[in-house]
Amino acid sequence: MTTTADATDFVAQLKSFEGKEAGGPERGADPVNQPMIRHWVEAIGDDNPVYVDADAAANSVHGQIVPPPVMLQAWVMRGVRPRPTDGGNPRDELMNLLDSAGFTSVVATNCEQEYHRYLHLGDHLSTSTIIEAVSDEKATGLGVGHFVTTRVEYRTEDGELVGTMRFRILKFKPGTGRGATQDGDGSKPRPKRPRPALTQDNAFWFAGAKEHRLLIQRCTQCQELRHPPRPVCAKCRSYEWDAVEAGGRGTVYSYVVNHYPQVPAFDYPLPIGLIELDEGTRLVANLVGVDAADVRVGMPVEVEWIEHDPDLTLPAFHPVRSERPRAGQPDEGWPGPQRAEQ
Ligand SMILES: [Zn+2]
Repeated sequence: MTTTADATDFVAQLKSFEGKEAGGPERGADPVNQPMIRHWVEAIGDDNPVYVDADAAANSVHGQIVPPPVMLQAWVMRGVRPRPTDGGNPRDELMNLLDSAGFTSVVATNCEQEYHRYLHLGDHLSTSTIIEAVSDEKATGLGVGHFVTTRVEYRTEDGELVGTMRFRILKFKPGTGRGATQDGDGSKPRPKRPRPALTQDNAFWFAGAKEHRLLIQRCTQCQELRHPPRPVCAKCRSYEWDAVEAGGRGTVYSYVVNHYPQVPAFDYPLPIGLIELDEGTRLVANLVGVDAADVRVGMPVEVEWIEHDPDLTLPAFHPVRSERPRAGQPDEGWPGPQRAEQ
């Protein structure tokens, strides 16, 4: 039982981390350089010449090559194998404190960057990270938790502040979010699945799912099918669309078996497939009626509908049976990944 005094004490403990350095300063492996800029803009598809063409840059307002400001984080990014930390820094202590109080889940919620000036080739950046704020306990859709904001300051070797990044995470108690109810005796009902973020582009798809209709958005100008739903046809740029109903058959194009992190609304191991429908579009859906270890790329699958709760029906896919059960027969025994007889 947590008393109000305990809770106040805990928040005070959390707040004592505000303003502390979150770890030692970190120095970028390389100064700002042309090859990294080139790779970045190629990957992003940004063909602004001020990033890569010395002549064009010389004639621009910058007078010289500049990197895209949003590359800021790249200049001090750790490598694939992070350097070992000495442990025990205030950020780790804060995370351990939250974990020990049951706030074990984490989600990143915001990232804001400020650029104080354009960088130039040769600038060599270092960062210092400060725990800027720890919030009071908040009730969020994901669960009860605390927001932790860290402020990363990017400086040149002269100490000039050239950029600031604020990164906010929510550390929350799993199973305490929207849809979860607490009855106090420890026998909590299973929390509901997370709600989809409905938009005017995708609402039709979830409405179709409620009626057990697997819909695919179709451009009415060029007939191209597309999924996930979006406002514009990538082929002809038309905004006009309607939807067609898929037959419900396809194959496993790719898949993952999720073991961790575990969210109370799901069962684990959780196989999730990228299903290529016979119509050609792909969608992500749970794989059911098959042992996670038996899922294979190319496995023929067909849709079934799972009514998770009164507001949420979603398609899932099971392996196509060698023989479809006749009406009235029990629905059991998947023989494995064999193509059904047509
Ligand atoms: Zn089109």
